[in-house]
Amino acid sequence: MSDVRNVIIIGSGPAGYTAAVYSARADLKPLVFEGSVTAGGALMNTTDVENFPGFPDGIMGPDLMDNLRKQAERFGAELVADDVVEVDLAANPKVVKTHTDTFYAKSVILATGSGYRELGLPNEKRLSGRGVSWCATCDGFFFRDQDIVVVGGGDTAMEEATFLTRFAKSVTIVHRRGELRASRIMQDRAFANEKIRFVWDSEVVDILGETRVSGVRVRNRKTGEETELPASGLFIAIGHDPRTDLVRGQIDLDDEGYILVDAPTTRTNLDGVFAAGDVVDHTYRQAVTAAGTGCAASLDAERWLADHS
Ligand code: FAD
Repeated sequence: MSDVRNVIIIGSGPAGYTAAVYSARADLKPLVFEGSVTAGGALMNTTDVENFPGFPDGIMGPDLMDNLRKQAERFGAELVADDVVEVDLAANPKVVKTHTDTFYAKSVILATGSGYRELGLPNEKRLSGRGVSWCATCDGFFFRDQDIVVVGGGDTAMEEATFLTRFAKSVTIVHRRGELRASRIMQDRAFANEKIRFVWDSEVVDILGETRVSGVRVRNRKTGEETELPASGLFIAIGHDPRTDLVRGQIDLDDEGYILVDAPTTRTNLDGVFAAGDVVDHTYRQAVTAAGTGCAASLDAERWLADHS
Protein backbone atom coordinates (compact mmCIF):
# COMPACT_ATOMS: atom_id res chain seq x y z
CA MET A 1 0.00 0.00 0.00
CA SER A 2 1.29 3.46 -0.90
CA ASP A 3 1.81 6.24 1.60
CA VAL A 4 -0.97 6.63 4.24
CA ARG A 5 -1.78 10.31 4.77
CA ASN A 6 -2.78 11.80 8.11
CA VAL A 7 -5.67 13.65 6.54
CA ILE A 8 -7.30 13.96 3.14
CA ILE A 9 -9.58 16.97 2.59
CA ILE A 10 -12.22 16.72 -0.13
CA GLY A 11 -13.40 20.16 -1.29
CA SER A 12 -11.86 23.52 -2.02
CA GLY A 13 -14.33 26.15 -0.85
CA PRO A 14 -13.79 28.26 2.29
CA ALA A 15 -14.33 25.12 4.43
CA GLY A 16 -11.82 22.91 2.59
CA TYR A 17 -9.07 25.53 2.25
CA THR A 18 -9.44 26.66 5.87
CA ALA A 19 -9.21 23.05 7.03
CA ALA A 20 -6.09 22.83 4.83
CA VAL A 21 -4.48 25.92 6.39
CA TYR A 22 -5.04 24.58 9.92
CA SER A 23 -3.99 21.00 9.11
CA ALA A 24 -0.87 22.18 7.30
CA ARG A 25 0.11 24.45 10.19
CA ALA A 26 -0.38 21.48 12.56
CA ASP A 27 2.17 19.66 10.39
CA LEU A 28 -0.36 17.04 9.27
CA LYS A 29 0.72 17.45 5.62
CA PRO A 30 -2.84 17.41 4.26
CA LEU A 31 -3.72 16.29 0.77
CA VAL A 32 -6.56 18.41 -0.65
CA PHE A 33 -8.77 17.44 -3.59
CA GLU A 34 -10.04 20.65 -5.11
CA GLY A 35 -12.25 19.32 -7.90
CA SER A 36 -11.38 19.51 -11.59
CA VAL A 37 -13.78 22.23 -12.75
CA THR A 38 -14.93 24.13 -9.71
CA ALA A 39 -11.74 24.54 -7.67
CA GLY A 40 -12.32 27.37 -5.21
CA GLY A 41 -15.99 26.59 -4.64
CA ALA A 42 -19.10 28.74 -4.81
CA LEU A 43 -17.37 32.11 -4.43
CA MET A 44 -15.63 31.64 -7.77
CA ASN A 45 -19.02 32.52 -9.31
CA THR A 46 -19.47 35.86 -7.67
CA THR A 47 -18.04 39.37 -7.77
CA ASP A 48 -17.83 41.47 -4.58
CA VAL A 49 -17.78 39.79 -1.20
CA GLU A 50 -18.37 42.49 1.40
CA ASN A 51 -19.08 40.43 4.50
CA PHE A 52 -15.96 38.28 4.90
CA PRO A 53 -14.22 39.74 7.99
CA GLY A 54 -10.89 41.44 7.46
CA PHE A 55 -11.58 43.13 4.12
CA PRO A 56 -12.92 46.62 4.88
CA ASP A 57 -13.17 47.46 1.16
CA GLY A 58 -14.59 44.06 0.22
CA ILE A 59 -12.85 41.56 -2.02
CA MET A 60 -13.75 39.80 -5.25
CA GLY A 61 -14.88 36.19 -4.66
CA PRO A 62 -12.17 34.60 -6.87
CA ASP A 63 -9.46 36.77 -5.22
CA LEU A 64 -10.57 35.67 -1.76
CA MET A 65 -10.40 32.03 -2.82
CA ASP A 66 -7.03 32.52 -4.49
CA ASN A 67 -5.70 34.04 -1.26
CA LEU A 68 -7.03 31.13 0.80
CA ARG A 69 -5.50 28.67 -1.65
CA LYS A 70 -2.09 30.37 -1.47
CA GLN A 71 -2.30 30.48 2.33
CA ALA A 72 -2.89 26.70 2.43
CA GLU A 73 -0.03 26.09 0.00
CA ARG A 74 2.33 28.32 1.93
CA PHE A 75 2.15 26.00 4.94
CA GLY A 76 2.65 22.87 2.85
CA ALA A 77 -0.83 21.63 1.94
CA GLU A 78 -0.65 19.51 -1.19
CA LEU A 79 -3.40 20.60 -3.58
CA VAL A 80 -4.70 18.40 -6.38
CA ALA A 81 -7.12 19.83 -8.98
CA ASP A 82 -8.98 16.58 -9.45
CA ASP A 83 -12.33 15.03 -8.52
CA VAL A 84 -12.72 12.33 -5.94
CA VAL A 85 -15.00 9.75 -7.56
CA GLU A 86 -15.14 7.01 -4.93
CA VAL A 87 -14.42 6.61 -1.22
CA ASP A 88 -14.43 3.84 1.36
CA LEU A 89 -14.69 5.72 4.63
CA ALA A 90 -15.29 2.72 6.88
CA ALA A 91 -12.03 1.04 5.79
CA ASN A 92 -8.82 1.35 7.78
CA PRO A 93 -7.02 3.24 6.36
CA LYS A 94 -9.71 5.15 4.48
CA VAL A 95 -9.66 4.90 0.70
CA VAL A 96 -10.06 7.88 -1.65
CA LYS A 97 -10.05 7.39 -5.42
CA THR A 98 -9.81 9.72 -8.38
CA HIS A 99 -10.30 8.49 -11.94
CA THR A 100 -6.61 7.58 -12.15
CA ASP A 101 -5.25 7.01 -8.63
CA THR A 102 -6.01 5.58 -5.21
CA PHE A 103 -5.01 7.33 -1.99
CA TYR A 104 -5.13 6.27 1.66
CA ALA A 105 -5.61 8.30 4.82
CA LYS A 106 -6.11 7.87 8.54
CA SER A 107 -8.76 10.62 8.57
CA VAL A 108 -10.92 12.43 6.01
CA ILE A 109 -12.56 15.87 6.07
CA LEU A 110 -15.58 16.22 3.77
CA ALA A 111 -16.09 19.80 2.55
CA THR A 112 -17.83 19.32 -0.79
CA GLY A 113 -20.35 22.15 -0.35
CA SER A 114 -23.82 22.38 -1.80
CA GLY A 115 -25.12 23.61 -5.11
CA TYR A 116 -27.77 26.29 -5.43
CA ARG A 117 -30.51 25.11 -7.79
CA GLU A 118 -30.54 27.11 -10.98
CA LEU A 119 -33.39 28.06 -13.28
CA GLY A 120 -31.41 26.70 -16.23
CA LEU A 121 -31.76 29.87 -18.32
CA PRO A 122 -29.11 30.87 -20.88
CA ASN A 123 -28.29 34.25 -19.25
CA GLU A 124 -28.24 33.00 -15.68
CA LYS A 125 -24.51 32.20 -15.42
CA ARG A 126 -23.45 35.25 -17.46
CA LEU A 127 -25.34 37.62 -15.15
CA SER A 128 -24.46 35.79 -11.91
CA GLY A 129 -22.96 38.38 -9.56
CA ARG A 130 -24.29 41.06 -11.94
CA GLY A 131 -27.80 41.15 -10.58
CA VAL A 132 -28.49 37.41 -10.43
CA SER A 133 -28.00 36.10 -6.89
CA TRP A 134 -28.78 33.09 -4.75
CA CYS A 135 -28.14 34.76 -1.41
CA ALA A 136 -30.03 37.75 0.02
CA THR A 137 -27.78 37.94 3.10
CA CYS A 138 -24.76 38.19 0.79
CA ASP A 139 -26.09 40.57 -1.83
CA GLY A 140 -29.22 42.35 -0.54
CA PHE A 141 -27.18 45.36 0.49
CA PHE A 142 -26.26 46.06 -3.16
CA PHE A 143 -29.93 46.63 -4.09
CA ARG A 144 -30.89 49.63 -2.01
CA ASP A 145 -33.98 51.43 -3.44
CA GLN A 146 -34.13 49.07 -6.38
CA ASP A 147 -36.75 46.71 -7.80
CA ILE A 148 -36.08 43.04 -7.17
CA VAL A 149 -37.64 39.80 -8.36
CA VAL A 150 -37.50 36.69 -6.17
CA VAL A 151 -38.26 33.26 -7.65
CA GLY A 152 -39.65 30.52 -5.42
CA GLY A 153 -42.55 29.64 -3.15
CA GLY A 154 -41.00 27.97 -0.11
CA ASP A 155 -39.80 29.21 3.25
CA THR A 156 -36.43 30.29 1.87
CA ALA A 157 -38.05 32.39 -0.85
CA MET A 158 -40.33 34.11 1.68
CA GLU A 159 -37.43 34.69 4.06
CA GLU A 160 -35.22 36.11 1.31
CA ALA A 161 -38.04 38.32 -0.02
CA THR A 162 -38.91 39.66 3.43
CA PHE A 163 -35.24 40.34 4.20
CA LEU A 164 -34.79 42.12 0.86
CA THR A 165 -37.59 44.60 1.65
CA ARG A 166 -35.16 46.21 4.12
CA PHE A 167 -33.26 47.55 1.14
CA ALA A 168 -35.40 47.26 -1.96
CA LYS A 169 -37.98 49.66 -3.33
CA SER A 170 -40.13 46.68 -4.31
CA VAL A 171 -39.91 42.88 -4.23
CA THR A 172 -41.94 40.80 -6.68
CA ILE A 173 -42.22 37.09 -5.92
CA VAL A 174 -42.71 34.99 -9.03
CA HIS A 175 -44.13 31.56 -8.23
CA ARG A 176 -45.01 28.66 -10.53
CA ARG A 177 -48.20 27.79 -8.70
CA GLY A 178 -51.26 29.62 -7.38
CA GLU A 179 -50.33 28.96 -3.76
CA LEU A 180 -47.16 28.89 -1.68
CA ARG A 181 -45.34 25.90 -0.20
CA ALA A 182 -43.98 28.09 2.61
CA SER A 183 -45.13 27.65 6.20
CA ARG A 184 -48.18 29.69 7.25
CA ILE A 185 -46.14 32.07 9.41
CA MET A 186 -43.70 32.86 6.59
CA GLN A 187 -46.58 33.36 4.16
CA ASP A 188 -48.41 35.70 6.53
CA ARG A 189 -45.27 37.73 7.02
CA ALA A 190 -44.80 38.10 3.26
CA PHE A 191 -48.49 38.87 2.59
CA ALA A 192 -48.45 41.56 5.27
CA ASN A 193 -45.40 43.30 3.81
CA GLU A 194 -46.49 46.21 1.65
CA LYS A 195 -43.31 46.16 -0.44
CA ILE A 196 -43.97 42.56 -1.59
CA ARG A 197 -46.28 41.62 -4.45
CA PHE A 198 -46.88 38.25 -6.07
CA VAL A 199 -47.01 37.06 -9.66
CA TRP A 200 -48.79 33.68 -9.50
CA ASP A 201 -48.77 30.65 -11.82
CA SER A 202 -45.78 32.07 -13.62
CA GLU A 203 -42.18 31.23 -14.40
CA VAL A 204 -39.19 33.32 -15.40
CA VAL A 205 -38.34 32.38 -18.98
CA ASP A 206 -35.59 34.93 -19.69
CA ILE A 207 -33.23 37.21 -17.77
CA LEU A 208 -32.76 40.55 -19.52
CA GLY A 209 -29.71 42.82 -19.55
CA GLU A 210 -26.35 43.09 -21.28
CA THR A 211 -23.83 43.73 -18.52
CA ARG A 212 -26.26 43.78 -15.59
CA VAL A 213 -29.78 42.53 -14.99
CA SER A 214 -32.39 45.00 -16.26
CA GLY A 215 -35.48 42.80 -15.91
CA VAL A 216 -37.00 39.38 -16.42
CA ARG A 217 -39.50 37.94 -18.88
CA VAL A 218 -42.24 36.00 -17.16
CA ARG A 219 -44.68 33.51 -18.70
CA ASN A 220 -48.06 32.75 -17.17
CA ARG A 221 -48.31 28.94 -17.12
CA LYS A 222 -52.09 28.99 -17.49
CA THR A 223 -52.57 31.57 -20.26
CA GLY A 224 -49.12 31.42 -21.90
CA GLU A 225 -49.02 35.22 -21.82
CA GLU A 226 -45.53 36.73 -21.50
CA THR A 227 -44.74 40.00 -19.72
CA GLU A 228 -41.54 41.84 -18.84
CA LEU A 229 -40.84 42.92 -15.28
CA PRO A 230 -38.19 45.62 -14.94
CA ALA A 231 -35.78 44.79 -12.08
CA SER A 232 -32.10 45.19 -11.30
CA GLY A 233 -31.92 42.09 -9.09
CA LEU A 234 -33.09 38.52 -9.51
CA PHE A 235 -32.85 36.30 -6.42
CA ILE A 236 -33.29 32.61 -7.12
CA ALA A 237 -34.61 30.75 -4.08
CA ILE A 238 -35.67 27.34 -5.33
CA GLY A 239 -33.46 25.21 -3.09
CA HIS A 240 -30.01 23.70 -2.70
CA ASP A 241 -28.54 20.25 -3.19
CA PRO A 242 -25.77 19.14 -0.84
CA ARG A 243 -22.98 17.34 -2.73
CA THR A 244 -23.22 14.03 -0.92
CA ASP A 245 -23.49 11.50 -3.78
CA LEU A 246 -19.94 10.41 -2.99
CA VAL A 247 -20.77 9.32 0.55
CA ARG A 248 -24.43 8.32 0.25
CA GLY A 249 -24.95 4.88 1.79
CA GLN A 250 -21.71 5.13 3.83
CA ILE A 251 -22.39 7.97 6.20
CA ASP A 252 -25.46 9.25 8.05
CA LEU A 253 -27.32 11.97 6.16
CA ASP A 254 -30.43 13.88 7.19
CA ASP A 255 -33.73 13.79 5.29
CA GLU A 256 -32.55 16.42 2.84
CA GLY A 257 -29.22 14.70 2.16
CA TYR A 258 -26.93 16.90 4.29
CA ILE A 259 -24.20 15.17 6.32
CA LEU A 260 -25.16 14.73 9.96
CA VAL A 261 -22.52 15.79 12.48
CA ASP A 262 -22.34 15.55 16.24
CA ALA A 263 -22.71 19.33 16.68
CA PRO A 264 -21.03 21.44 17.92
CA THR A 265 -18.19 19.16 16.73
CA THR A 266 -17.67 18.19 13.07
CA ARG A 267 -17.59 14.44 13.83
CA THR A 268 -19.73 12.25 11.60
CA ASN A 269 -21.01 8.79 12.60
CA LEU A 270 -17.83 7.28 11.10
CA ASP A 271 -14.70 7.25 13.21
CA GLY A 272 -12.06 9.59 11.75
CA VAL A 273 -14.44 11.24 9.28
CA PHE A 274 -15.33 14.89 9.73
CA ALA A 275 -17.55 17.26 7.72
CA ALA A 276 -17.65 21.03 7.38
CA GLY A 277 -19.24 23.87 5.43
CA ASP A 278 -22.38 23.93 3.34
CA VAL A 279 -22.48 20.15 2.92
CA VAL A 280 -23.57 20.12 6.59
CA ASP A 281 -25.17 23.53 7.00
CA HIS A 282 -28.85 24.17 6.19
CA THR A 283 -29.00 27.38 8.07
CA TYR A 284 -26.20 29.88 7.68
CA ARG A 285 -24.52 29.10 4.32
CA GLN A 286 -21.91 31.84 4.53
CA ALA A 287 -18.26 31.84 3.57
CA VAL A 288 -17.23 32.76 7.10
CA THR A 289 -19.32 30.01 8.73
CA ALA A 290 -17.94 27.48 6.22
CA ALA A 291 -14.41 28.66 7.02
CA GLY A 292 -15.22 28.43 10.76
CA THR A 293 -16.39 24.82 10.55
CA GLY A 294 -13.43 24.01 8.29
CA CYS A 295 -11.18 25.19 11.11
CA ALA A 296 -13.17 23.09 13.61
CA ALA A 297 -12.91 20.00 11.38
CA SER A 298 -9.15 20.33 11.21
CA LEU A 299 -8.88 20.69 14.99
CA ASP A 300 -11.23 17.71 15.48
CA ALA A 301 -9.16 15.62 13.06
CA GLU A 302 -5.91 16.67 14.75
CA ARG A 303 -7.23 15.58 18.18
CA TRP A 304 -8.62 12.36 16.79
CA LEU A 305 -5.25 11.56 15.18
CA ALA A 306 -3.46 12.26 18.46
CA ASP A 307 -5.77 9.77 20.21
CA HIS A 308 -5.36 7.13 17.51
CA SER A 309 -1.64 7.19 16.83
P1 FAD B 1 -18.16 25.39 -1.63
O1 FAD B 1 -17.72 26.79 -1.68
O2 FAD B 1 -19.38 25.00 -2.39
O3 FAD B 1 -16.93 24.50 -2.14
C1 FAD B 1 -17.01 23.14 -2.29
C2 FAD B 1 -16.08 22.76 -3.43
O4 FAD B 1 -15.59 21.44 -3.20
C3 FAD B 1 -16.71 22.60 -4.81
O5 FAD B 1 -16.94 23.76 -5.48
C4 FAD B 1 -15.66 21.75 -5.51
O6 FAD B 1 -14.59 22.55 -5.95
C5 FAD B 1 -15.17 20.85 -4.40
N1 FAD B 1 -15.72 19.51 -4.53
C6 FAD B 1 -17.00 19.09 -4.42
N2 FAD B 1 -17.10 17.76 -4.63
C7 FAD B 1 -15.84 17.33 -4.87
C8 FAD B 1 -15.26 16.06 -5.19
N3 FAD B 1 -16.01 14.93 -5.28
N4 FAD B 1 -13.94 15.98 -5.40
C9 FAD B 1 -13.16 17.09 -5.31
N5 FAD B 1 -13.65 18.33 -5.01
C10 FAD B 1 -14.96 18.43 -4.81
N6 FAD B 1 -21.17 33.81 1.21
C11 FAD B 1 -20.73 34.88 1.88
O7 FAD B 1 -20.38 34.76 3.06
N7 FAD B 1 -20.66 36.11 1.28
C12 FAD B 1 -21.00 36.32 -0.01
O8 FAD B 1 -20.94 37.45 -0.52
C13 FAD B 1 -21.46 35.20 -0.76
N8 FAD B 1 -21.80 35.33 -2.06
C14 FAD B 1 -22.19 34.23 -2.76
C15 FAD B 1 -22.47 34.37 -4.10
C16 FAD B 1 -22.82 33.27 -4.87
C17 FAD B 1 -23.11 33.44 -6.34
C18 FAD B 1 -22.92 31.99 -4.24
C19 FAD B 1 -23.29 30.77 -5.07
C20 FAD B 1 -22.65 31.84 -2.90
C21 FAD B 1 -22.29 32.97 -2.13
N9 FAD B 1 -22.00 32.85 -0.78
C22 FAD B 1 -21.54 33.93 -0.10
C23 FAD B 1 -22.12 31.57 -0.07
C24 FAD B 1 -20.74 30.91 0.05
O9 FAD B 1 -20.15 30.90 -1.22
C25 FAD B 1 -20.87 29.51 0.59
O10 FAD B 1 -21.54 29.52 1.83
C26 FAD B 1 -19.48 28.87 0.77
O11 FAD B 1 -18.74 28.92 -0.44
C27 FAD B 1 -19.59 27.42 1.23
O12 FAD B 1 -18.30 26.93 1.34
P2 FAD B 1 -17.95 25.38 1.30
O13 FAD B 1 -16.49 25.30 1.46
O14 FAD B 1 -18.81 24.64 2.24
O15 FAD B 1 -18.40 24.87 -0.15
